[in-house]
This record gives sequence, structure tokens and C-alpha cells, in this order.
Amino acid sequence: MKKVAEEKKYLYGPVPSRRLGRSLGVDIVPFKVCTLDCIYCQLGRTTEKTIERKDYFDVEVVLAELRERLVLSEAKELAYRKKEILRCAQNDKSAIADFITISGSGEPTLNAGLGQLIEGIKKITNIPVAVLTNGTLLIDKSVRAACAKADVVMPSLDAGDEQTFQKVNRPHKGISIENLIGGLCAFRNEFSGRMWLEVFFVEGLNTDAEQIGKIKDAIEVIRPDKVQLNTAVRPTANAGVKRVDAEKLQLISEELGGKCEVVADFSYQRCTGHIGSKAEDVLSMLKRRPCSLNDICSGLGIGRNEALKYISHFQQGGLVYSEEKGGILFFKAN
Ligand code: SF4
Repeated sequence: MKKVAEEKKYLYGPVPSRRLGRSLGVDIVPFKVCTLDCIYCQLGRTTEKTIERKDYFDVEVVLAELRERLVLSEAKELAYRKKEILRCAQNDKSAIADFITISGSGEPTLNAGLGQLIEGIKKITNIPVAVLTNGTLLIDKSVRAACAKADVVMPSLDAGDEQTFQKVNRPHKGISIENLIGGLCAFRNEFSGRMWLEVFFVEGLNTDAEQIGKIKDAIEVIRPDKVQLNTAVRPTANAGVKRVDAEKLQLISEELGGKCEVVADFSYQRCTGHIGSKAEDVLSMLKRRPCSLNDICSGLGIGRNEALKYISHFQQGGLVYSEEKGGILFFKAN
């Protein structure tokens, strides 16, 4: 068992993120261990719904993989710079990634080593660290302390009352909307970094005037730095999940007020600083979330033909399949 854990690849990407630019992902919980089972989840149904925090992986092994990746990336970047090819590294921005994002195949705060991991990352790189969390464990003081070591924390809130919370997020029985909002408020009061709250809208479930009013009330109490609105543009756990159209999402944004933005489709800056085995990286990316061809090309800095070559290879081998959503074809690994 130990050997299997040690062989796991904890890093994926960089992937294009509509919220973070080029995001180098660190996946620190097994697939799909989560406190929620959201109907819109891109990863499919939650297989282990829990609120018990565990030391899922050895933090030092995760850090060793990151260290190796950064050294390789820097060497590659230097080589490109010498040939005056790489144009991505400007000012103080890293050409490797804009953020190291702790997220992945479930809820990352379930990993009891989260704080130690962020401390370790900060010792080896100055790339800012983001934590993508559903926020449900922030009611726990030790989870707040761990998340507070990051530069950006991105929790979620999709409902303003218990009934809608149950419908949209299908939480573990030990979690309530009251606890979620209480944890978000407590964290805001203690955290001096950036807190970007995501609200995911599902047409017909949390989009009527009453729901929006309740979400607005919660946002006013939580006081995040930004509120980012999202909807089901990718294939989801439940096939019947309906996206909110762009115009309506914009109207909701105006209703919710000044800190709100609709998270636009990712438009990327192409970067040739690709690292690692490309085919493996494509598969690794598709195991984490469904991606369009554009997502793959922009995230990995490869051309369409090359990406299609790998996808076709994996499709023939039964490892990857495609699914259409909103007129866009998404690829996903089995
Ligand atoms: S919190 Fe995230 S990982 Fe967990 S079920 Fe919801 S969308 Fe999926």
C-alpha cells in the first residue's frame, strides 16, 4: 500500500484556470473524498463522504515532487531564454505557473497535513499558493489556521438556506449551512490574505429572487474580497444540471453587488515552457477534470494537432472519452 502511495503523482498541469491564470495543481486527497457531493461536480459522484481529517499522504513526498518539478522547469526556462524563445517570463511573474493551487480530486482541507504542506511550499518557491476549498471545514479552528498560511483562499457558497444547500451540495450529515457560513465568517475575521468566494449557480435550483437575496445576505456577513460567479459549463456529476445563461449570470452579478464578477472563459497567453512527458500530462490533466481542446492546448502549451494526437491515442486505448456540453466537446479520462 505504502509503495502505491509513494508512486502517486501529486502534481498536475499547469492547467488553465479562469480564476487563477496558469495553475500548477497539487492534489492532496484521494479521488473522490469530499465533505460534499455537489450535483454539479466535474469529477463525478463522491465515493467517500466524510468530515474526518487524515494524513492521507506524506507531505515530504509531495514536496519532493514539487521541488523536482520546479528545478526541471527552471532549467528548461533558462535554456529557452538563452535561445530567446521564451517570452512568458516578464517582470516578477513566474513562467512556470501563476499559482500553486492546492485542490484536486476532493476536498483538500480533509488532509490534516495541509498547513505543513503550505509551509513547505513557501520554503521552496515564491510562487503564490492558493487553496481551493468548499469551505465546510472552516468551522474548525485548526483548518482555519492551515488555510491562513496561503496567499489566496477560494471557498464556495452556493446557497443561503439549508434546503437549497441540501439540494445543490448534498453535504455530509455533520455539516449545515449555518456551520458553513459561520466558518467562512470566522475565517474572514482571522485571515489577512485574499479571500475569493465562488458561487455556483444551477438553473432552477438557486437562481430565483429569494435564493439570490439569501446568498446576498450571507455575502454581506462574510465580506470576501471578491465574489466569483460560475455555472455548469463543463460536464457534471448529474446529467440534468442546467447552466445559467451568460446574460442571466450577469444580471445576478449586478444584483449581488460590486465585488461580484462572472468568471469569464479562460483566455490564455500561450507559453512554450512545457515540462514533463506531454502525453502523460494530457492524461493527468483529464483525470482531474473535463477539458476542451483549447484548455489542453493552453494549459500545456502544445498545439491542437499534437493534443489531438494524444487524445486519439488514449481514446483508442479506452482511457479517454468525450462528452458535449453547451456546444463544446470536453474530454475526460476514465
Ligand atoms: S466540493 Fe468540490 S470536489 Fe466536493 S463534490 Fe463539490 S465540487 Fe466536487
